[in-house]
Amino acid sequence: MIALRRLVALTLVALLWGSGLLGAVAVQPESGEQAVPPPLSLDDLAALDALLEEDTEEAPADFDRSALVDVGALGLVLAFAVFSFVKKSERLKIVSLVVSVAYLGFYKASLVSVVDIFGAIRWSLPAFQDGQAYYFLIVFTLVSTVLWGRLYCGRICAFGALTQLMDRIIPSRFRVEPPPWLDQKLIYAKYVVLGGAVLYFLASGDTLVYRYIEPFWMFTLNGNVVMWTLLTALLLATVFVRNLYCRYLCSVGAGLGLLSNLTVFRIKRWNECSTCKLCEKTCEWGAIDGPKILVSECVRCDDCERLYADEDKCPHWLIQKRQAALAATRG
Ligand code: SF4
Ligand code: SF4
Repeated sequence: MIALRRLVALTLVALLWGSGLLGAVAVQPESGEQAVPPPLSLDDLAALDALLEEDTEEAPADFDRSALVDVGALGLVLAFAVFSFVKKSERLKIVSLVVSVAYLGFYKASLVSVVDIFGAIRWSLPAFQDGQAYYFLIVFTLVSTVLWGRLYCGRICAFGALTQLMDRIIPSRFRVEPPPWLDQKLIYAKYVVLGGAVLYFLASGDTLVYRYIEPFWMFTLNGNVVMWTLLTALLLATVFVRNLYCRYLCSVGAGLGLLSNLTVFRIKRWNECSTCKLCEKTCEWGAIDGPKILVSECVRCDDCERLYADEDKCPHWLIQKRQAALAATRG
């Protein structure tokens, strides 16, 4: 290593010396007087060696430290999201949504985007050493989708988290629910957006289309007039139709929806679910259709699972309690 540093130092010295010579040639007086670069002393060599040590050792250490901090902070955010999911706690979910908006949204502007899908199609992804946190987020999103479904959409995507928080603040009297027949058609619009974007990308190689089909750039606060106008219209429409973008328009949500057909750990259903419509009405994502969970629409928000577990609300438990009481009186 030291020998290598010496070699680099000597090369640098030679280059400096050469450039000094060239510089001297460039300013050589017309008189023909030969300008000779001053010789380098041993002190100069030592100073160069020290400079090289700083360049070769301290700069990568700085890079590694900041990359490590990014990965560590992202790990904490993701771990908390999973913890809130496992605990099935509404309060923890709200905290997780706030953290996603603040940290992954406004602080890091780190969201999975349709551009990542373009990158995967063309296999043109960032170098690993330049994007460890990026790869961590992508791998987590893919693995968690295969394990549980669209957990990323349910509490990690900063835009989805923002609209879910909006939904909690906006008075319900403003809300308009599309009728089920229309909702069941509109959910396919996001696949059309994804397909159209991919075809456009394949035909043109232009990734900038993302600016007009996804609003994630808003966390960088860097958009043109058309982008801000579209975003304003989208957020205004979201006041009336909850989770509008996620349910009907998001190409990333569409991609994760397709992937979630592989989900391993799915939501359990009781026999009673085929007749009881309680959780179907509870689901804000239109992801329950009678006894069926539409895995591609479900974002693992926990609302229905909390209801199943509630022995005072879910008919499954109420029927069991009633049967036990009848058996006790007969016995
Ligand atoms: S559907 Fe899109 S915007 Fe909504 S949470 Fe998922 S990735 Fe984010
Ligand atoms: S209520 Fe249930 S089915 Fe609907 S999105 Fe939430 S977890 Fe999925």
